[in-house]
Amino acid sequence: MKGEGKLLVFSAPSGSGKTTIVRWLLAKEELNLEFSISATSRQPREGEKHGVDYYFLSLHDFKQHIKDEDFLEWEEVYRDNFYGTLKSEVERIWSHGKHVIFDIDVVGGLDIKKLFPEKTLAVFVKPPSIEELKIRLKKRKTETDERINMRIAKASIELATAPQFDHIIENNNLEVALDEAYGLVSDFILDK
Ligand code: 5GP
Repeated sequence: MKGEGKLLVFSAPSGSGKTTIVRWLLAKEELNLEFSISATSRQPREGEKHGVDYYFLSLHDFKQHIKDEDFLEWEEVYRDNFYGTLKSEVERIWSHGKHVIFDIDVVGGLDIKKLFPEKTLAVFVKPPSIEELKIRLKKRKTETDERINMRIAKASIELATAPQFDHIIENNNLEVALDEAYGLVSDFILDK
């Protein structure tokens, strides 16, 4: 895959605030970012739209894309819930002359860093604590208790991968985290 753009990976356990950070960065026009819409086999949550939040695919179609080697990276994040980045998505964004920003899971994030070590800035967003993560996930009210527990169990494993990222942002205070994220991204894009 060829392109002039850069890749900005934001990975974190779900509930750590990375989506808020990514959305905020996207609104900064001077950064020239476009969101990589992932494909997933999970069901849309209320309000989520196909082609905006995700490309919602059937399990069958997702598996077909795996066979056809259409993914840059893919993963079964939770059982039967597949997530992945389509090569065509990155190409689409680069063809607009923009940089790609990813809101993806730690394994996928590190896979992208491995594929494009020079072009990628990999940032890990760290939640204040596992306890706080639990509170945030409960507040969100989008998941059953069972699914929240599944996410919490995964979060502990994910926290252990933080040192493999280029930078760790501790999201204790959102203002500070946003400032830090802005600095990292703008320096990387401008090659400082
Ligand atoms: P959610 O179901 O809450 O939208 O996402 C569940 C997890 O899947 C999150 O950690 C999210 O970052 C991750 N995820 C979303 N898109 C991708 C992707 O394209 N690849 C990988 N590896 N993980 C993803």
